[in-house]
Amino acid sequence: MADSNFLTEHNARHVWHPMAHPAEMRANPPVIISGGEGTEIIDIDGKRLLDGVGGLWNVNLGYSCDPVKQAITAQLNELPYYSAFRGTTNGPLIELSVALAEFFAPDGMVRSFFTSGGSDSVETALRLARQFHKLNGQAERTKFVSLKKGYHGTHFGGASVNGNQNFRRAYEPLLPGTIHLAAPYAYRNPFNTDDPKVIAECIVQQFADEIAFHGADTIAALIMEPVLGAGGVIVPHEGLMPSLRSLCDKHGILLIADEVITAFGRTGAWSGSRLWGVKPDLMCTAKAITNGYFPFGAVMIGSRVADVFEADRTAMGSIGHGYTYSGHPVGAAAAIACLAETIKKDLPSNAAARGVELFDGLEALKERYPLVGDVRGMGLMCAMELVSNREDKTPVGKDTVAKVYKGAYEAGVMVRTSGNNIILSPTLIITSQDVARILEALQAGLKAAGN
Ligand code: PMP
Repeated sequence: MADSNFLTEHNARHVWHPMAHPAEMRANPPVIISGGEGTEIIDIDGKRLLDGVGGLWNVNLGYSCDPVKQAITAQLNELPYYSAFRGTTNGPLIELSVALAEFFAPDGMVRSFFTSGGSDSVETALRLARQFHKLNGQAERTKFVSLKKGYHGTHFGGASVNGNQNFRRAYEPLLPGTIHLAAPYAYRNPFNTDDPKVIAECIVQQFADEIAFHGADTIAALIMEPVLGAGGVIVPHEGLMPSLRSLCDKHGILLIADEVITAFGRTGAWSGSRLWGVKPDLMCTAKAITNGYFPFGAVMIGSRVADVFEADRTAMGSIGHGYTYSGHPVGAAAAIACLAETIKKDLPSNAAARGVELFDGLEALKERYPLVGDVRGMGLMCAMELVSNREDKTPVGKDTVAKVYKGAYEAGVMVRTSGNNIILSPTLIITSQDVARILEALQAGLKAAGN
């Protein structure tokens, strides 16, 4: 590989980075990651870092998962690509659909539609939801409801249901007919309470009000993350998703679970829907489905939706949607191996156990460091929200967040920053010692920030 200075210079000259300002990337060049092993990544200067981010919430099995690497290599040798558009299919995608149907049977999922990532999965689910209602003779049902602070990727549909201004403003006008309910965010919310149960009840009431206001017969679907990830790891009260599901049922509205982060064990449950005991109509997956080793995703389809499509005999029922890489054989082979490893290693159990240790450790940091205003988590998705004043919950500025990041980095742990949050989503194979290492590094970061 070329040397570090060359790469940094050319990165600044030629590359635009996702979710970053080009000028800022020039002033503050990104770290070049050149290796990965087990739970660690290695930067271009040879520094080993425990990856507290798990790639981007996706490298659940770590960086050295040989069965997945071997499955990819073998598939590359056998059939590196062929399309799954009508007329052709391939073995790995069929085998994967069987494995996924079994994996997601407790969630009521019966069919798979393959995509090349999370944004594609969201777009697919939104489109299938509209098509479902058309096939069902309810063509007026076109609107979507979602939660503020929710993140659903960057395609126009997903961006329209996103609940964070930063991903919307520059790209407006977005899809008309999107309705945003409040986030189930106990630390800050418009309801003047920090009681998650009360907040959940208020959001359910909001949903009921919006249904009455718009008319149920105009609403296609509610889309939500079972635990909100990119919005700052917001864990709703256990009653929220089941109550929203009931309202959907009452009014013929589909429920789309965006499980791009939560499927495959991250919350400590096999899926986020199972965590809350809910059966969605459509489920978006991606990320850990291939452990980040190959861009891939799947929308899982429940029987209520599948039955309507499969009973249809009109042109409207044809799925006029799909991607060149839908059902990519290499991605499918990777996913089969990932599923097998996830089950064999019982990753959700480790995520649950290590998640408790991590959460407790973060709570202990909150006791000691006034900079920590709030700590949230479920399994191995956690956030630490930083404030300069606990009384009025003033968010810290970018500089302070950067100091915590840098302090943790110097102490050997990669963390992710998002606004005034430090986000933690390590691989699901971490040990208690790894958790201790993350906590020590965060402590170093908090000290570096002058706390
Ligand atoms: N939905 C959720 C819940 C996500 O977290 C993400 C990505 N962070 C997406 C959708 C979009 O996925 P991708 O970046 O693979 O397009």
